[in-house]
Amino acid sequence: MIRAVRPSFAALALWLAWGATPNVAVAEDCPGNPDAIGTSRTIAVDPAEHPRIGAMNYPETLPLAEKEVVLTFDDGPIAPYTGKVLDILASQCVHATYFIVGEMARTRPELVRRAYREGHTIATHSMTHPYAFKGLPFDKAKAQIEDGIEATSAALGDSKSLAPFFRFPGFGRTDKAEDYAASRGLMVWSADVPADDWMHIGDREITRRALMRLEHKGRGVLLLHDIHPATVLALPVLLKELKARGFHIVHVVPASADHPKTETTAEAWLVPNRRKPAAPALTLAEVQNLNGDFLAQHPGADLCTPQVMSPKSFQRSRNLAARASRHFSASRRFAHARSARSGRWFAPMWY
Ligand SMILES: [Zn+2]
Repeated sequence: MIRAVRPSFAALALWLAWGATPNVAVAEDCPGNPDAIGTSRTIAVDPAEHPRIGAMNYPETLPLAEKEVVLTFDDGPIAPYTGKVLDILASQCVHATYFIVGEMARTRPELVRRAYREGHTIATHSMTHPYAFKGLPFDKAKAQIEDGIEATSAALGDSKSLAPFFRFPGFGRTDKAEDYAASRGLMVWSADVPADDWMHIGDREITRRALMRLEHKGRGVLLLHDIHPATVLALPVLLKELKARGFHIVHVVPASADHPKTETTAEAWLVPNRRKPAAPALTLAEVQNLNGDFLAQHPGADLCTPQVMSPKSFQRSRNLAARASRHFSASRRFAHARSARSGRWFAPMWY
């Protein structure tokens, strides 16, 4: 929730001098927890204008500013982990988006209602979470989408409480299923940053990967799952670290009469074209001894052979090459491959 506060006279004068609206959004007060990261702002989005978001699959993502993070939790609800995640989020005054699986909602409807009651956005993630969603015949894919919406609405007791946001299981999108989702007013969410919490890597590694990737991208929609104990263990540390590193949590809701669409520019929705970490450039001067009249004494071909280098500079070049190689493989691990044929971003694994 965004709270408008009355700024001081000096601040008011400054805002008016800039011609800006004298409303300042501040992190929600978090009773009993002055160290909470809180929710810095809520944005309202219109699925009709932006039917597909998330850098892992699409050229658009949410219009976040630098250091803003949207938390998403998939695959629940399940006891006791969904409840524990809700406890942590409540203690930190953080609002997230839940992508609910229909059959899970049928089993634990009270957890869906609790998440909604506590201010989270409730969205859907199919009926039974088929991992081979991409390979489903269209009529089955359509039924998965519809049944998931129906079951989650039933758990909420009110279809109006459900956000028209949908995430494909395993990001198993198809053009036809995407078109169908758009035709019925759904905004399809991919994600910007996975934390690999479904891979049984342990809470420390989940935290490390989430932070490392968010630091690398600078912002993003973070993909988490509230069905794993390791995610529950990781979450308090992750939120603490995010706060310490200057990140802010943003809550997303569908635009409505209560939440008018947040004004943005078209550019704000484009996936930031961040410079990929480049391998350190190896300059000739770094790997070869160019003292004195070295260049004059050697033909051009010699400059590319280790024989003419001093043993010391040769070793230096090997070290630099090894460093460059490590750097490259590390950057490859963070980067998501891009399909040469379609030009779409895709995630080379299931979620
Ligand atoms: Zn899932």
